[in-house]
Amino acid sequence: MDFPRHACAYAERLATTCEPFRRQLEPDARELDGDDGCSADPFGEQDDAAGTYGLKQRFPDRVLVMTSDSCFMNCRHCTRKGILRDAEVVRTDEELQNCVGYVKAHPQVRDVLLSGGDPLVLPDGEVLRFVEAFAALDQIEVVRLCTRAPCVNPERVTDGLARSLRSCGKVWVNTQFNCAGEVTPDATVACGRLVDAGLPVSCQTVLLAGVNDSVEAMLDLFRALQRARVRPYYVFQCDPVAGISHFRVPLEKAKMIAAECAERIGGLALPRFVADIPGAARKIPVEEL
Ligand SMILES: *Cc1c(COP(=O)(O)O)cnc(C)c1O
Repeated sequence: MDFPRHACAYAERLATTCEPFRRQLEPDARELDGDDGCSADPFGEQDDAAGTYGLKQRFPDRVLVMTSDSCFMNCRHCTRKGILRDAEVVRTDEELQNCVGYVKAHPQVRDVLLSGGDPLVLPDGEVLRFVEAFAALDQIEVVRLCTRAPCVNPERVTDGLARSLRSCGKVWVNTQFNCAGEVTPDATVACGRLVDAGLPVSCQTVLLAGVNDSVEAMLDLFRALQRARVRPYYVFQCDPVAGISHFRVPLEKAKMIAAECAERIGGLALPRFVADIPGAARKIPVEEL
């Protein structure tokens, strides 16, 4: 298989008890169905912003910084499955300072996303090096830590890490859970550590055929997230990335699920169902498509 299969011990165990989670971890021959009309890099993420290494800007007020090139688990539906191993990742102080310089030269940027890969595969000191470098800028109001650790490796989310992130100020954690079975007691403890430290925690879910493509599966997930004090933020249509077409849910079905969820659960537990479309100025709500 082209894209590596890797999962930490916790994710391997979860896959034995949670079938919808197992489907996100086990390779599927359909990933190799050649010509699905999609690209390995639909968002041009292999191109860096001028003068930087590993910084991507698609929107005027926020930038994404690639801080790691690996994850606790290789999700089969990964939006970066075509580029992850070649992703340009900020490592040296000079590379980081170039990214900071870029942000300073673009005063409209107020929000920095630390992504990768999963930033939390790095040791705490490295994570804080990134967070502090951006949080120190007056123009930066939000530093988003994008990590699936609360779901796939909850022990990584220690009290010490949560406290350090909180003390940097400005940090929001954005995680990914795709079905209610992933919101285990361990995951709930991990999210609780972040929330108790004072960090806002939200969730980006990917709408995946055979995993969560029903109204009941989604409502179960949103309720489980709310019990864990995690705010559902987005539900994404699969990105137009090569090798994930077997996960893609037809737009009409996505609209139906979104509309019915909106009728059946309160606003605080209701994320926006969106699609990320190359060239669009924002994530587009499915009902506009
Ligand atoms: C999705 C994305 C963001 C964040 O968008 P929000 O709608 O604010 O969550 C920022 N930068 C890039 C490059 C993105 O792909």
